[in-house]
Formats: sequence, structure tokens, C-alpha cells
Amino acid sequence: MTHKGHDHRKCMALFEKMSEYIDRELDEEARALVDAHIRACCHCQACYETLQRTVDLCRSSAADYPLPDSLSEKLRAMIEAAGR
Ligand SMILES: [Zn+2]
Repeated sequence: MTHKGHDHRKCMALFEKMSEYIDRELDEEARALVDAHIRACCHCQACYETLQRTVDLCRSSAADYPLPDSLSEKLRAMIEAAGR
């Protein structure tokens, strides 16, 4: 599977911002960029949905529950695989 025109570097940069995006810690400009990329990129969209679901789960069970490292690793691997 090839992803012509898909800028893998953008995906990695987006991944770094995704948790801040979910926590609404980004300013308006950065949020708009992340938002636009998530809409345009199915890999990041899948990644975002997984992350969002996990964050929701964590929040409903315990306050300030940190994201498990294994999950961020899994999502990072997803994006890396998508860029190949
Ligand atoms: Zn992407």
C-alpha cells in the first residue's frame, strides 16, 4: 500500500500534539492545523479516535490517569507503519 502525497513528517508532528489537542491545551492556530490534518488523514483519524476513546475511559474511571506508555507506543507504531 502506498500513500502518494502523504507527508509522514506531518503525521509524526501531529502525533506529538494529539494529546494536547485532546486536552485542549493548544492555541487556536495549532488546534486548527491538527483538526485539518485529522480530517484529511485516515491514519491520524484512526489514531485520534483511539486516543480520544482511551482518554475518555481514563477520565471516567480516575482523574488525571496518565496515558499508558504501551498505548502511545502502539499509536506511534501505527503512524510509522502508515508512513511507509
Ligand atoms: Zn496523518
